[in-house]
Amino acid sequence: MKAAIYYKIRDIRLKDIEKPEVRPGCVLIKIKAVGICRSDVHYFVHGRIGVQIIKKPLVLGHEAAGLVVEIGKGVKNIKLGDKVALEPGIFCGKCVQCKTGHPNLCKKVKFFGTPPVNGTFLEYVVHPAKMLFKLPKNISYEEGALIEPLTVGMYAVELAKIKASETVAILGAGPIGLSILKSVICRQVKKIYVTDYLDYRLKFAAKHKKVTVINAGNDPVAKILKMTKGRGVDVVFEAAGKAEAVKQTIEVAATGGRVVWAGIPDEDTVTIDCHEARRRELLIINVRRTKHQNEKAIRALASGKIKVKAMATHRFSLEEISKAFNIVEKYKDGVIKAIIEL
Ligand SMILES: [Zn+2]
Ligand SMILES: [Zn+2]
Repeated sequence: MKAAIYYKIRDIRLKDIEKPEVRPGCVLIKIKAVGICRSDVHYFVHGRIGVQIIKKPLVLGHEAAGLVVEIGKGVKNIKLGDKVALEPGIFCGKCVQCKTGHPNLCKKVKFFGTPPVNGTFLEYVVHPAKMLFKLPKNISYEEGALIEPLTVGMYAVELAKIKASETVAILGAGPIGLSILKSVICRQVKKIYVTDYLDYRLKFAAKHKKVTVINAGNDPVAKILKMTKGRGVDVVFEAAGKAEAVKQTIEVAATGGRVVWAGIPDEDTVTIDCHEARRRELLIINVRRTKHQNEKAIRALASGKIKVKAMATHRFSLEEISKAFNIVEKYKDGVIKAIIEL
């Protein structure tokens, strides 16, 4: 089967590798759609994310949906021909984090496309049946691939404990920022400010109700403070993955407000004004991937409560993966989410 292999920085090539064999408790999935995540691009450009370093050739990709083509022994919850979204992290189920309800914090987690675990930019994968989520007929493979980023946004919003009539700022209007936005809108908030440097992304965000967009190059902090009469917002999300935006979260949060860091900053070190954060008792919340959101996300998509289709702006074959990474890396051609289709 074909697999897209990362060899070194900016070098991904297709290679024929052996098709995996199904194991007990697992199923064989023919991959149909995989989203390119900013974290994949991080690896593509830097060869690492923080201390997670790619040391040998690796298949990237973790936002996947596919068709079940073979069933392993003992599998009851999944049938041949099921359309599924894949939970990308196989957690151990035994450690303290897993046992206390935080599988996203499992230290032994095997997460697709995170070294040394191969990901899903390939034709077939074997995955535990209990880590699959059945997609109803009216959810496409492409939407299935968008579930993972959507659940990251939904989880960030859940952690923020947003109440109706609160004000919100989302710094960054990429797939995660927009997933946060779609989830925030369901919570009946009063007003949402969205910032980004890319006008085409702001235009996309502005199509949602209650949203005011501000270009990040246009003094967004002063603008948000002015529009909230100097108070700031109840909840601010960092979804840009930039040190600059992390700093801004402290500046635009209202006194006693919540700050949610959902992005992966390009920089290893970010300096914030800790006294400002302390004096105004800001609650700073970090988000590690996602947990317990898949079923909720599938229900929201199936019922039409949340729509993600329009976020998939670009489609490429596996053969075109380098081109796709290039477009995503450089924010070319109005890209929001690029999907590899197989
Ligand atoms: Zn992702
Ligand atoms: Zn664990």
